[in-house]
Amino acid sequence: MKPSDAKLNELARQLTELQKRAKALGVFANDRELLECPGCGLLEDVTSTGLLITCRADALGEDTGLRFVQLADNIFRCPSCAQRVEATDELEQTRKKRKARK
Ligand SMILES: [Zn+2]
Repeated sequence: MKPSDAKLNELARQLTELQKRAKALGVFANDRELLECPGCGLLEDVTSTGLLITCRADALGEDTGLRFVQLADNIFRCPSCAQRVEATDELEQTRKKRKARK
């Protein structure tokens, strides 16, 4: 193995480790769509550093500290007003479009 290969392998190992730690810290893994409460407007967002937060439409990017509670696969409860929020495909598409604009 060339010295550069060994370096690459080490980097790959470190990256895997980092991803594991990141997930444990609350980084959004992109394994479902972001939520938006139709009742009170609380919405999920992902910060530039990849952390999953919730914020209000009038203060985007400002973490409220609240987190949606998962009840079932696509069903969540709003931590603010307790409304049931269903993750829909339509919402997913909207978010994807938003992401594509970056
Ligand atoms: Zn709500």
